[in-house]
Amino acid sequence: MNYVDEVLAKVQVKNASEPEFLQAVEEVLESIRPVVDANEDLYRREAILERITEPDRQIKFRVAWVDDSGQVQVNTGYRVQFNNAIGPYKGGLRLHPSVYIGIIKFLGFEQIFKNSLTGLPIGGGKGGSDFDPKGKSDREIMAFCQSFMTELSKYIGADIDVPAGDIGTGAREIGYMFGQYKRIKNSYEGVLTGKGLTFGGSLARTEATGYGLLYITEELIKSHGQDMKGKICVVSGSGNVAIYAIQKAQQLGAKVVTCSDSTGWIYDPDGIDVALLQEVKEVKRARLTEYAAARPGAEYHEGRGVWAIKCDIALPCATQNELMIEDAKTLVANGVTAVCEGANMPTTLEATRYLQDNGVLFIPGKASNAGGVATSALEMSQNSERLSWTFEEVDTMLNRIMVDIYHNIDDAAKRYGKDGDYVAGANIAGFEKVAEAMIAQGVC
Ligand code: NDP
Repeated sequence: MNYVDEVLAKVQVKNASEPEFLQAVEEVLESIRPVVDANEDLYRREAILERITEPDRQIKFRVAWVDDSGQVQVNTGYRVQFNNAIGPYKGGLRLHPSVYIGIIKFLGFEQIFKNSLTGLPIGGGKGGSDFDPKGKSDREIMAFCQSFMTELSKYIGADIDVPAGDIGTGAREIGYMFGQYKRIKNSYEGVLTGKGLTFGGSLARTEATGYGLLYITEELIKSHGQDMKGKICVVSGSGNVAIYAIQKAQQLGAKVVTCSDSTGWIYDPDGIDVALLQEVKEVKRARLTEYAAARPGAEYHEGRGVWAIKCDIALPCATQNELMIEDAKTLVANGVTAVCEGANMPTTLEATRYLQDNGVLFIPGKASNAGGVATSALEMSQNSERLSWTFEEVDTMLNRIMVDIYHNIDDAAKRYGKDGDYVAGANIAGFEKVAEAMIAQGVC
């Protein structure tokens, strides 16, 4: 049997109850087939695919905390340290009730290739908890974060593993976790990124994932002889990635007409009012119904539906598997030109294939949302230097990194006769570097 098929079969048996992880492994291994075929003897002898699909370690722990009524609550915490061949483990912490080991493994696996693509020295990891921050008081959030960090602090460090934010983990949560780490270790180090600006955070980190998504989208569009000006965009989500994607798209002259959250979505034909969206989501932490109430021209709909709006560019920025085959068909029927992922794996495999087969330019999240982790790595550099760079300096580096990622994945796809297949290009470019480092470092 072919080496890729052999390893896929083993991974499927071993991780049968983790569909998201299997989906991510299948996508990566399928698209690096040409590289593996060209190096089959070496990779097989080195068991590169078996090693890269097995985390270095998985940590699972109890998180007990006291709610406002005095009741003790118990959640489960996770940290998967997947691969540190090219640098310390790096990846966010997701706080959401859907979190279980399969979600954290899928995200940690993706992170290996994404971090490699940034060109910066960072390995892949991910963590989180099934804790739901929604509806909790600030005191309850702090109690959870302190308990979570009390255990996590045993396994992380500025040169070991540097977590960051993700769904449900924003500046507030990172602040509480950093405070607890410092207290336990008596050490002021860059152990987390996404920190507040008064204690080691980087300017432009908040904006980085959304801005980076638009920088790579702009480069893609320009490379195909087009311009962002006047393009109609649909965006899903209304969190950190979505908000700054909308803001940058508008700065580049596009019009964004939708956003969404886990209960409904907005269609605003005049273009999303970013300041109002920030007020509703970042300040009040409220539902999108409040956006519609304050904006007479906007419509609010329950459920999901942003992909039904006619657009040139679609930017899924909420969560995994939110753009399915029927959505892909609607987008194609409506003449979409490009789909670039802001979230991690928001497009199902079937939908991805349909979009690519129908000539839609498609950039996968591991390339197009890498601006967040790239800027986190810039935060690590600033912490090591004990310096802070200006917003413009960081933003300029971010822009350069995203433009480089585009050309890197484009070149990798072309080298293997897959011109325009940016999924293959991203996986190949990300994989080659990690595999080479693993082989150079011997069996471990
Ligand atoms: P946030 O928590 O800030 O926002 C997430 C958004 O997605 C919210 O609008 C949320 O709605 C919505 N959402 C979450 N879960 C679901 C669901 N199951 N169904 C429908 N909508 C949902 O997270 P981020 O913006 O930080 O992250 C969004 C995506 O981007 C994730 O896939 C994340 O892994 C990825 N990512 C984030 C990076 C970052 O720097 N923040 C970096 C790289 C990738 P509601 O408000 O109702 O919860």
